[in-house]
Amino acid sequence: MTLMLDKLAAQESKRVLGDAELTERAERLSAQYFDGRARPASVRWVTNQNTRWGSCTPAEGSIRLSHRLQGMPEYVVDYVLCHELAHLLVPGHGPDFWRLLEAYPRTERARGYLEGVVAADRLPHVPGARGERDA
Ligand SMILES: [Zn+2]
Repeated sequence: MTLMLDKLAAQESKRVLGDAELTERAERLSAQYFDGRARPASVRWVTNQNTRWGSCTPAEGSIRLSHRLQGMPEYVVDYVLCHELAHLLVPGHGPDFWRLLEAYPRTERARGYLEGVVAADRLPHVPGARGERDA
């Protein structure tokens, strides 16, 4: 029984968050890092966003995350959420924006992760090398 519950717990942690949970999570992050000043009205996954990880419409308080983030580590998803939350407060990517994002402790690490994903995407495909460590 314990084993089964562990299995369920493992599945649970890998489960993709629904849009309602995503909104809740964004609200929690806003409370934790931005004193609750960023107030997202809605947060949802979108599949039509392939060049950006996230986007937002400050006037509506809506945030959209690319489905490509699904399956990435939580701290990376949280970073993108924080990034878009910060845009609800500061529009561009000026010094004010990054100063605000410094509140989220894993900003640098998450940006590095995402840069790595982008770089890996651009690597030329080597036949037979996929998944082979010694290739
Ligand atoms: Zn941005």
